[in-house]
Amino acid sequence: MEGKILTNIYNFNAGPSALPKSVLLEAQESMFNYKNSGLSVMEMSHRSPLYEEIHFNSLNKLRSLLSVPDDFEILFLQGGASLQFAMIPMNFLTPGKQAAFVLSGSWSEKAWKEASRIGETYILASTKDEMYRRIPEVNFDSCKENTAYIHLTSNNTIFGTQWPSYPIKDPNIPVCMDASSDILSRSIDWNQMDLVYAGAQKNAGPSGITIVIIRKSLMETANSHIPTILSYNTHAKSDSLYHTPPTGSIFILGLVMKWIEEQGGVEAMRLHSKTKGSLLYQTIDESDGFYVGHATESSRSSMNVTFNLRNEQLEKQFLHEAKAKGFVGLNGHRSIGGCRASIYNAVPLSHVESLVEFMKNFQKTHV
Ligand SMILES: *Cc1c(COP(=O)(O)O)cnc(C)c1O
Repeated sequence: MEGKILTNIYNFNAGPSALPKSVLLEAQESMFNYKNSGLSVMEMSHRSPLYEEIHFNSLNKLRSLLSVPDDFEILFLQGGASLQFAMIPMNFLTPGKQAAFVLSGSWSEKAWKEASRIGETYILASTKDEMYRRIPEVNFDSCKENTAYIHLTSNNTIFGTQWPSYPIKDPNIPVCMDASSDILSRSIDWNQMDLVYAGAQKNAGPSGITIVIIRKSLMETANSHIPTILSYNTHAKSDSLYHTPPTGSIFILGLVMKWIEEQGGVEAMRLHSKTKGSLLYQTIDESDGFYVGHATESSRSSMNVTFNLRNEQLEKQFLHEAKAKGFVGLNGHRSIGGCRASIYNAVPLSHVESLVEFMKNFQKTHV
């Protein structure tokens, strides 16, 4: 069975992205005949005890890995992180209030634009005019009085920046964070957060499932005059089984959680990412300007490493040769170009080492 998975491919895709090989193999086996039930996971009723076991196992493992306290609800929703751009304001941005946005990249801009269609918003800080090379300096004390919540993006997938640490929270203003591209790669201080969400397809599992972790006391303040399916309370009341959940995705997410546990948990993932990131950034820094990193050093992401070569033609050549050697997904996002290596949890260190070797060789032959 091992042989069915190509081993000469290095997956640096930005999302959907690499999954642990052992997870794929286990999924392949248990999908077909789950626990000798004669049913694959995708063929069973979401109301059956067999599925319920899968569902609650995934929820519980996620809770344990991220040390989510009991006063937070964990929801499994659909619609991706993008639906959360709309759902958060629909639930909490009521008339007379304003939502504060920290703009640190394209996804935070999208979140801000979507909220602005629903209610009043303002920009608390932005590094847009610096091409989002760094995380803005921000002080939560400077929020307006009628602020409904502050919205942050923990890791900027497209520009390759990540918050090294967060400002101290004002106890009266909820903080909502899009952690789509770095969830489960470092711990979360739940005293500083009220709602954390993530599309699973970068660091937590396959696409089709969105994680929302929300403080119960915040959820109780939500607007109840919105469609039932868009209300957090609806999903919380029914343990994310209000309607048919994406059962297959939730199953695989559970396998990824088990894999992270086996690797030593979130702290092990953090150290692993740091090692992988350092290798790449060191290669960039020691290239005498052959490779130029996009992010300012203090804002560098340990999930998405973005860089340029001296001109577009050389970048094209780099991507072309990389592709021929089995490196997948190294092209930058279509909106900004350049190169990007996404080194999420499931990307093995050996793949990063191979990339580094390729980068050094490419430089030698193209000076
Ligand atoms: C990928 C990504 C999104 C979009 O996620 P969807 O699940 O496709 O809606 C939003 N925010 C961040 C930070 C992302 O990386």
